[in-house]
Amino acid sequence: MTATDTSQSRKRPARAPKPQGQWKVDGKDPLNPNEVFKKEDDALNVRDRILEKYSKEGFDSIPPTDLTGRFRWMGLYTQRKQGLGGRATSDLSDEELSDEYFMMRVRVDGKEVSTDALRVLGGISNDFARGSADITDRQNIQYHWVDIKNVPEIWQRLESVGFETMEACGDCPRAFLNSPVAGVAADEIIDPTPYLQQMHDRIIGNPEFSNLPRKFKTAATGHPSLDVVHEINDVSFVGVEHPELGAGFDLWVGGGLSTVPHFAKRLGVFVPPERAADVYEGVVSIFRDYGYRRLRNKARLKFLVKDWGAEKFREVLETEYLDSPLPDGPAPEYSGQRGDHSGVHDQKDGRKYVGATAVVGRISGDILNQVADLAEAAGSKRVKFTPHQKIVFLDVIPEKVDELVEGLYALGIQVYPGPFTRVGMACTGIEYCKLSFVETKEKARTVLSELDQRFAGETIDPPISVHLNGCPNSCARIQTADIGLKGQLIEGDTPGFQVHLGGSLAGAEVAEGELGQSVRGFKVSSDDLTDYLEGLVRNFLADRGEGETFAEWSRRAEEEKLK
Ligand code: SF4
Repeated sequence: MTATDTSQSRKRPARAPKPQGQWKVDGKDPLNPNEVFKKEDDALNVRDRILEKYSKEGFDSIPPTDLTGRFRWMGLYTQRKQGLGGRATSDLSDEELSDEYFMMRVRVDGKEVSTDALRVLGGISNDFARGSADITDRQNIQYHWVDIKNVPEIWQRLESVGFETMEACGDCPRAFLNSPVAGVAADEIIDPTPYLQQMHDRIIGNPEFSNLPRKFKTAATGHPSLDVVHEINDVSFVGVEHPELGAGFDLWVGGGLSTVPHFAKRLGVFVPPERAADVYEGVVSIFRDYGYRRLRNKARLKFLVKDWGAEKFREVLETEYLDSPLPDGPAPEYSGQRGDHSGVHDQKDGRKYVGATAVVGRISGDILNQVADLAEAAGSKRVKFTPHQKIVFLDVIPEKVDELVEGLYALGIQVYPGPFTRVGMACTGIEYCKLSFVETKEKARTVLSELDQRFAGETIDPPISVHLNGCPNSCARIQTADIGLKGQLIEGDTPGFQVHLGGSLAGAEVAEGELGQSVRGFKVSSDDLTDYLEGLVRNFLADRGEGETFAEWSRRAEEEKLK
């Protein structure tokens, strides 16, 4: 026996790898409590129980697995009890943190919102949500203070204008992102709207696809500004012009942020538009069948894509889920355009589209109604919400633009905002979210407008994005901001933020995005935030090289200039 043989004989026998809950590999036995309740009863079935039982018998009639589990598939989460500080987030149970009212998420799917629909959305806000309404960075409208008794009436009103809350949350394909200027922009490559509709009709509300390992996010754009944050969706269709096959889509899979951020990977295929729905169904099916279901924090598609790589993912898609392979295709071209659509732009038909900033997406029922009036006065019958928490007015008569701009300004909605307000974002935060440690919306609003004032008269171009999150989940995309702020308690119970710098997405400044990095060992209290940000930006302005962006500078600057 050789020395090598001896060492081998001492080795323990190799353990079989732990099953990861991949249905096609390991079978369908549930490996965690979420998988158990999803298997026991399809989450879509909770809709009937809401209509027939809970809305009639009230909050106390809702059993826990529906309340904290399946309700999400109907866009409903219990909101945070009022008055609980950040310490409660880690100290109390979900039940103790929960109020008897709901956050309700309306999926808009990047569709146009008619002025009639705006009034319906506004009416729901005023009648059933204490006037609350936020535009989210998934182009949704989010209400708070919803009583279960009013849900049937709210659904009826939403359906009357083509909207729904079906699968707006939960382990399923959530609201789609679509380019806010799809179908109208003069420089559009392709309008994804009809193909997204095909995907929606095939997948949403279909029990074949309602039990995925985790949430699944979808985006499509045909605009050269790359305006739907395609790198951080589970699947994205990005408009490209194939030299022989014409306009279609470049396919990206496996993007997502949260605590372990990943940019999506290009598969290198060209998706002809008529095959987009088949390809979509194939990608969702791969996630359903091969996604990891053992650990919730390893279940997003990004982890499978990381393990498989783009080549294997493409092979499985083409051989197991499509009738025939897809042709190779080009990558999207870098256009240097900013994708937030702020300001006034040309449409194909001679009219204008006007992008306006509702600061950090916070509006109200009254504002939705007034926005409808202003749109109509400017000749527009439809608006779009954007993944940057903005409103884009379509079809505006050129002579009416100034009147619209002034009317919006009076509502606090700006067509020409200051640079910080323009690109700032904030998640829901402690006001309503049970996972939050700090207040975000109001903080962001005051910090961004204060920064605009402090730098008035100075050129901040390109604008520097400041995004605020209440917790590590990154609903406000902190790792893709120039300055990303992750809410946490510092020094006891003081609300504060961990700082991430240098994030970006493909767009105006760069052809490829980069994830921001935290500044080692540095946190800033909520009270000191504006002064810190002013100092940081002043350091950048004093130290930057020719044409250098904030993100580039932050990666090479000395640490003391970042603190
Ligand atoms: Fe809530 Fe965290 Fe998302 Fe903010 S980032 S809305 S605090 S889960």
